[in-house]
Amino acid sequence: MVERSAEPTVLWVEGGLAGERRLFAELASVRPTEDRVERCADLDGALARLARGGFDAVVLAWPGDAEGGAAAVRRLRHEHPQLTVLGLMFPGAPVLGRDLLAAGADDCLIAAEVDARMLSAALRHACERRRLAVELASSEARLALVRRGSNDGLWHWDLATGRVHLSLRWKQIVGCGGDEIGDRLVDWLDWVVDDDRGFVREALSSHVAQGDGVLALEHRMRHRDGGERWVLLRGALSRDPSGRAACMAGSLTDLSARKRAEQQSLHDALHDPLTGLPNRALFLDRLTLALSAARGAPEAAVALLFLDVDRLQAINDSLGHACGDRLLVEVAARLRRVVRPSDTVARLGGDEFALLATGLRDVAAAVHLAEKVQQEIALPFFEKGEEIQVEASLGIALPGSAETSAEGLLRDADLAMVRAKAGGRGRIEVYDHERHAAAVELLRMERELRRAVAMGDFVMHYQPIVSLDSGAIVGFEALTRWRHPERGLVAPAQFIAVAEETGLIVPLGWRVLEWACAQAEEWQRRFPADPPYFMSVNVSGKLFTQESAVAQVLRILEVSRLAPESLRLEVTESVALDHGEPVMARLRALQTLGVQLSIDDFGTGYSSLSYLQRFRYDSLKIDRSFVRDLEVQDSRVIVETILALASHLGIGVVAEGVETGEQLARLRTLGCPLAQGYWFARPLDVPDAEALLATQAVW
Ligand code: C2E
Ligand code: CA
Ligand code: CA
Repeated sequence: MVERSAEPTVLWVEGGLAGERRLFAELASVRPTEDRVERCADLDGALARLARGGFDAVVLAWPGDAEGGAAAVRRLRHEHPQLTVLGLMFPGAPVLGRDLLAAGADDCLIAAEVDARMLSAALRHACERRRLAVELASSEARLALVRRGSNDGLWHWDLATGRVHLSLRWKQIVGCGGDEIGDRLVDWLDWVVDDDRGFVREALSSHVAQGDGVLALEHRMRHRDGGERWVLLRGALSRDPSGRAACMAGSLTDLSARKRAEQQSLHDALHDPLTGLPNRALFLDRLTLALSAARGAPEAAVALLFLDVDRLQAINDSLGHACGDRLLVEVAARLRRVVRPSDTVARLGGDEFALLATGLRDVAAAVHLAEKVQQEIALPFFEKGEEIQVEASLGIALPGSAETSAEGLLRDADLAMVRAKAGGRGRIEVYDHERHAAAVELLRMERELRRAVAMGDFVMHYQPIVSLDSGAIVGFEALTRWRHPERGLVAPAQFIAVAEETGLIVPLGWRVLEWACAQAEEWQRRFPADPPYFMSVNVSGKLFTQESAVAQVLRILEVSRLAPESLRLEVTESVALDHGEPVMARLRALQTLGVQLSIDDFGTGYSSLSYLQRFRYDSLKIDRSFVRDLEVQDSRVIVETILALASHLGIGVVAEGVETGEQLARLRTLGCPLAQGYWFARPLDVPDAEALLATQAVW
């Protein structure tokens, strides 16, 4: 390819028609430089000549017919993609401008309408565009732009004669044929809409007066169909060798075509190419609108159905993808039939569709719609006479609150669909907000709790345990509180279950044991008693599923220098059943080393009194529900029985939850040895507990 500034080299394919030679000769003469313009007799000759290289453009003056002309252009295009191809139409030859352009010609001119100067300008212009096209061919999008650009109309305005030449394409932009617009500037300006005519004329004449560079302005043209078209007018001034303005030439771009193309590419970006349905992006957009419309307008209530076609993969595998595709297209059509025109059906990808329905009264109405969808999908499909049956799994989601986002709702419906599918084919599931909220809350709590355990964000409270005989404190129960950054002290009822479920109870349990043992040892030193205060610590059976649990307890006792006899481990009745023999064996091992074992909440579980006999606990705690109901005959009998059995087996007893003087009096009468409860003291923080110890309180 030649330098950009030079004239393009041109190969002229002859047609032998009237006026052709004259135009060719003129073209050669008007070119400012001596570059090549060659002729050859036919297409084959041209291809042979082109194979040797050296040409920028081919002018097809060769008449041919519409088909042959288009084929010639395609052949040239194919073999020489960088070549500029320009069609020239002469009287007597078939008018094939449209066909040539469609086949890829860069421009078409009517010979009768152009002089050599305009032809020369058109060639320069077309070559420039072609060069750009080739340069940018790597990028599809840019190439598309340039292709549209190469569809520009061309114009040439001879300032000496005042004649205007407009290319066929120029005229087509306003809906006219080759001979329909005259050759004066007013004929041109006549097609500019009234409102814009003044400034277009003004722009052209002022560019002629002082113009350098390129004129470019957007304005509207009238179209023959009665409408208007936005166009981009570009032009540049040429000067003769003496520097006088000689002519102006340029292009006219149909912007409405570009607009349409933009709209087309927008449409493509928002729709599924197979079914033509909106895609996920457009669906989310519509859903967002529907959700905001639904706020405060119950009649606009939104329901989202997420549909998954069962067995599509199997059909693709057995009958081929083309069959799978036809099936999806049919599914799309059936979905459209079921819903109202105002509802949106989208294909989200693969075998997934979504359906946005508004104005449904309630969940039942949404389920009803889902059932209709299923019935429609379940009707047989016919493929080459064969009957195919598919089913759909459907998930339904309704916005849980005014804040529900489109993405959130889609995810909810998706989750419901996954559950539906998990339950078997062809099912419907409605998204359950409460279940979800609970799951989210659990996740959040787990995350916070994990952090708290790592940071040690807990405080220990200690509740005194009192001898009913002497009325003095004999020990404490250690009770954990979570020091939460926002919620303050959180009671164990709110997090122990989560800690159990997530396994966090294990690291937490060991920390608690360390703190409680250290505290007990300190109090034994500072507040001597006989026997020394014991410490009751609630432990989860999970702690003892670890092989090293026994060693771990011994290590903690050693570090805190607390005697094993001063430690009571409280386990619930269910520990044996929940964790089995290895855990019990480890607890028993600790027991033989002197550690006390206590059953918590005795009487609330399923364990029978016989169980007490099998596993020799050191003490049991009577659950506070029995203590609370001591006035009731049944409860009193149960407490009496427990006390009798315990004393028979030589097991210690602690009554929990003593809140009143009457309860205390009754427990004393029944001979209960130990008790704890609000009547004596609430669980206390360390300073309060120490203050109480200092008073040597007696009840
Ligand atoms: P629990 O072992 O039955 O502990 C006794 C619970 O009763 C404590 O609740 C205590 O504050 C409360 N309480 C004490 N006296 C009275 C009273 O007179 N009336 C009433 N209504 N309640 C009284 P808290 O501290 O909320 O602990 C609840 C449960 O959490 C405990 O029940 C225990 O099972 C568990 N827990 C506490 N700390 C730990 C721990 O460090 N590890 C493990 N695994 N569990 C713990
Ligand atoms: Ca307890
Ligand atoms: Ca208890």
